[in-house]
Amino acid sequence: MTPAAYAVLNLDAVRHNLSKVRSCAPDAKVMAVIKANGYGHGLLRIAEALQYVDAFAVARVDEGIRLRKAGFENRIAVLEGFTCAEEFDELLHYQLDAVVHSLTQLEILEAGEVSGACAVWLKLDTGMNRLGFKAKEFSSAYQRLSQCVLIKQPINLMTHFACADDFNDDKTLKQISLFNEAVAGLSGERSMANSAGILGWKQSLSDWVRPGIMLYGISPFPESTGRQLGLKPVMELHSRLIAVKQIEAGDTVGYGGSWICEKQTTMGVAAIGYGDGYPRYAKAGTPVLVNGKRFPLIGRVSMDMITIDLGNQVHAQPGDPVTLWGKGLPVEEIACWAGTIPYALVCGVTQRVQLVEKQHELSSAC
Ligand SMILES: *Cc1c(COP(=O)(O)O)cnc(C)c1O
Repeated sequence: MTPAAYAVLNLDAVRHNLSKVRSCAPDAKVMAVIKANGYGHGLLRIAEALQYVDAFAVARVDEGIRLRKAGFENRIAVLEGFTCAEEFDELLHYQLDAVVHSLTQLEILEAGEVSGACAVWLKLDTGMNRLGFKAKEFSSAYQRLSQCVLIKQPINLMTHFACADDFNDDKTLKQISLFNEAVAGLSGERSMANSAGILGWKQSLSDWVRPGIMLYGISPFPESTGRQLGLKPVMELHSRLIAVKQIEAGDTVGYGGSWICEKQTTMGVAAIGYGDGYPRYAKAGTPVLVNGKRFPLIGRVSMDMITIDLGNQVHAQPGDPVTLWGKGLPVEEIACWAGTIPYALVCGVTQRVQLVEKQHELSSAC
């Protein structure tokens, strides 16, 4: 019997998506972003599927350490860098590249008495206003870093885009030119592009690209799906019906009784809810596949269950397969119905959901 809620991961699709990155940015080295447990797909599994990339990027030191302890010898950049000397020592010990984005970090490096050398990415804030040095502080930060004995030379240079998913926003072009001005004449490799940059802004390609969401087959743009961009979605989320019943006009369904049945219909209850990462804010009408056909979600999403209007599908029965996103139902579409982004949906799949690799796919029969 299949688990009540499970995600099927297609690792061939990950490799296909990497080849798409390489065809969009043929001259760039690829730093595959696998933070947040490989965007919810499983850190080690995704690292294994991408083992031939030039580097990995994770957000936090502990994610990098997990990769090292699992035996990965690839270059690994830690995008948030470090916040104290102890954390920097860990970066050194595990030979992780540090992103240096703040004065506090510079001071830690200058005071450092440890031995060894750490590769760094000096981050310029070109308008995201999150991490990074402002343009006017940048060359002084670069000079100070150049003098640190703990730092491998040359220093790598990076920035991150705030609005690259919006083709009509010229902020990306401004960010690119601000970066190019600030790094002009400095040695060291450069990196700007995330997935949206790789797919949409050729001017942002440089020595290194940093694809995240596109590796998982998902579009970074609100108006397209991964498939439309030539990507292959990696994750499918499945469950099954656990009850089928008739409801009458006037019946309400679910918590709060907010959905009211207008005319007699067949309703299915599927074993998946926000406790599995299905979005609590998916609106009534959100499409769900039951036996491969689309039906609308009705009533509120509960922790362990959702309710679906099966219309005249009186033959549906407990055990029938339910797909929350996957073939024929892009995760981008569900994100739209739930007022969120597909990044949050895949990252939000919880521990309770069994992750199954496609070649070991379980039979969907109950
Ligand atoms: C997460 C992240 C990326 C990847 O972004 P996608 O939109 O998923 O491609 C690249 N660079 C930095 C600094 C990030 O934090």
